Amino acid sequence: MNGPRPSLDQARADMIEYQLRLRGIADPRVLQAMAEVPREEFVPDWARRYAYADEALPIAHGQTISQPYIVARMTELLAVRPGDRVLEIGTGSGYQAAILAHLGCSVVSYERQAELAAEARERLERLGYGRFVEIRVGDGSLGDPEGAPWPRIIVTAAAPRIPEALREQLDPDGGRLVIPVGPRTHQELMLVVRRGDEWQETSDGPCVFVPLIGEGGFPG
Ligand code: SAM
Repeated sequence: MNGPRPSLDQARADMIEYQLRLRGIADPRVLQAMAEVPREEFVPDWARRYAYADEALPIAHGQTISQPYIVARMTELLAVRPGDRVLEIGTGSGYQAAILAHLGCSVVSYERQAELAAEARERLERLGYGRFVEIRVGDGSLGDPEGAPWPRIIVTAAAPRIPEALREQLDPDGGRLVIPVGPRTHQELMLVVRRGDEWQETSDGPCVFVPLIGEGGFPG
């Protein structure tokens, strides 16, 4: 297409309107966080101009930063409150963690690839989110028993089934877990809400994620 390329500010405003609001993202705090966290800082340099495109983008080490709609939808389903402690599995670029930090959460995020973790840590520090996000290197598929019970858990990689450890570490008092579940090629986005010893599972529809690799996920 010829003609001037829209500015990143315009692309971000269009993303909010056409990719999120018109597709049903309604939580004003989520929309505000998506409008204020600079996604272009979380993608490789060559991809800055595509930062607000309606798709996942490659980051380093064969991984991806999820499509803006999926980040917003997972955040909305997680229904965080300021001050919530959130366990994230799959730091990747750190973008999802930054959105949660922007919403006032304190995040512990696990990443199995040390280089990605280091890059995300440096990025979040530079953008002012470092105090609110602790990044740990390791297999997060078994959760973080020391921090349990977790009021909120978000898994940003696809699991073959809901890992038992994450179910158990969820706060019995209304804890929420958002996780893509299914085979490697396609999954369903699942919301699990725990009340006492009952776990209510709801599907939010189809999605596609890179695999969760580890004891509670797929073999490497
Ligand atoms: N939340 C990320 C973001 O905002 O950029 C996107 C995450 S990317 C789709 C999935 C990430 O999960 C990859 O970086 C991958 O290395 C990581 N991962 C996969 N299995 C994991 C595991 N068992 N523990 C921790 N991280 C894992």
